[in-house]
Amino acid sequence: SFDVLVVGGGPAGASAAIYAARKGLRTGVVADKFGGQVAETVGIENFISVSKTEGPKLVANLEAHVKDYDVDIMDNQRALSLKSGKQFELELESGAKLTSKTILLATGARWREMNVPGEQEYRGSGVAYCPHCDGPLFKGKRVAVIGGGNSGIEAAIDLAGIVEHVTVLEFDASLRADEVLQRKANSMGNIDIITQAMTTEVLGDGKRVTGLTYTDRSTNESHNVELAGIFVQIGLVPNTEWLTDTVDLTPRGEIIVDGKGETSIPGVFAAGDVTNSAYKQIIIAMGSGATASLGAFDYLIRHSDE
Ligand code: FAD
Repeated sequence: SFDVLVVGGGPAGASAAIYAARKGLRTGVVADKFGGQVAETVGIENFISVSKTEGPKLVANLEAHVKDYDVDIMDNQRALSLKSGKQFELELESGAKLTSKTILLATGARWREMNVPGEQEYRGSGVAYCPHCDGPLFKGKRVAVIGGGNSGIEAAIDLAGIVEHVTVLEFDASLRADEVLQRKANSMGNIDIITQAMTTEVLGDGKRVTGLTYTDRSTNESHNVELAGIFVQIGLVPNTEWLTDTVDLTPRGEIIVDGKGETSIPGVFAAGDVTNSAYKQIIIAMGSGATASLGAFDYLIRHSDE
């Protein structure tokens, strides 16, 4: 049995585990894949105090840091369900059941993909999902943003200040982004918005993205756009499918947390991309992991006699 059982081994989970272990708490980490989204990231240039690193390198550092402490890491294990009781019970896909006094959910999120040919092949070589992370790599180049919701138009406005030109491709006949964002995008000279555009393929030269093709749904004609980068902004999906009917979620499926990272169930905390935190970044996930872990410690010292 654990004092703190962390579900998820990304930056939020790793940070939470270190903070818990440093309080002398019996700490476990269950992770489907230790490292999380960071493992899939090529260059990282906004992890403050480290000018430049790479995903796999940061994952190795995270793991080494967690292993400095007495933390039970259970990698390649998926959590299936969470039950409340005298102690919390976490059931794993393997059939194993773990019990803990507190639970810290840090299962992260995944970007919704276009599912078109070339997307996987050029992921990290022109196909990107995070403008805050990868925008500067396309300085002076032409890029596309797929998706005309708030995140797509925000990305277009953000990128337009860095890159030469942005083409926004929206599947529907109109944009779903807030009026104020649309007005701002329309006022910038280097953003073109194309509606009723279904992206059909990512084009490349074998090394990097060189363009994309889309079908104009109003005419059924196919068009090519030459560009160096494609930012896919069609949704970030929190990994909470297994948590329905437990903690309170937003309509988008994000776990609702308070200032201490506590969820609607006392003793269950959450951190990182899986929560309703405002922005999704490594440094933010680590900070919220620390918050939630200290929240769990606080909970434990108040419930220690139970
Ligand atoms: P995640 O990293 O998503 O980790 C979630 C963890 O939970 C994983 O270990 C996963 O295996 C595990 N998990 C999920 N479901 C279960 C389950 N049911 N049972 C057990 N374990 C489970 N941010 C930056 O700050 N800078 C960047 O340069 C940057 N570049 C990025 C590039 C890419 C391609 C991507 C995808 C993201 C990038 N980000 C970047 C965002 C950053 O990676 C995330 O904000 C951060 O990883 C979130 O951390 P997290 O711990 O909350 O979740």
